Amino acid sequence: MEQTRRTYLAWLHDAHAMEQQALTMMEGQLSRLDTYPDLRAQLQLHIAETREQAATLDRLLARQGSDASLMKDTMGRPAAMGQSLVGLFAADEVVKSVLAAYTFEQMEIASYRTLITAAEQMGDLEAIEVFTRSLDQEEAMAGWLAGHSAEITRKFLARAEVDLPSHQ
Ligand code: MG
Ligand code: FE
Repeated sequence: MEQTRRTYLAWLHDAHAMEQQALTMMEGQLSRLDTYPDLRAQLQLHIAETREQAATLDRLLARQGSDASLMKDTMGRPAAMGQSLVGLFAADEVVKSVLAAYTFEQMEIASYRTLITAAEQMGDLEAIEVFTRSLDQEEAMAGWLAGHSAEITRKFLARAEVDLPSHQ
C-alpha cells in the first residue's frame, strides 16, 4: 500500500503538471484565434475548467502533505507531449491547434481514468468524485473539438483559397 500511495502521489503531480501545460497551450492559442469565435469561446470555457482542475489537484496534493510546486522530474513528461504539437506558427495554425488540443484531451482523459482507478485503490472518495467531474469535462472538450473539426477545417481552407491569413 505504501508503494501505491507513492505512485498515486506521483500521478497527482503529473496531472497537475499536465493541467499547467494545458493552460499554457490553450492561452497561447487563444491570442491567435480572432477569426474563429466559436473555437475561441470553447477554449475560454475550457481554460476556466482547467484552472479549476489544477486548483483541485493543488488541494488534493496539499491534503496528502505534498506541495504542487515540488514537481521536479515528473514535470517534463506530459509537458513534452503538448510542446511537440504546439508552437508551430504555421499558416494552418488553427487546424494544428485543433489537432493538438484534441490529442491533449485524449491524454487527459486517459490520465483521469488512471487516476480514478488509483483513487479507488486508495479509497480516496473525494478524489474519485472530482476526477470523475474532470473526466467529464475533458470528454466534453474532446467531443466539441471532434464535432467542430470539419467546420473549422472548411473555414480555414476557404480563407486560404482567397489568401486570407488563418488568424485574422
Ligand atoms: Mg484538464
Ligand atoms: Fe482538458
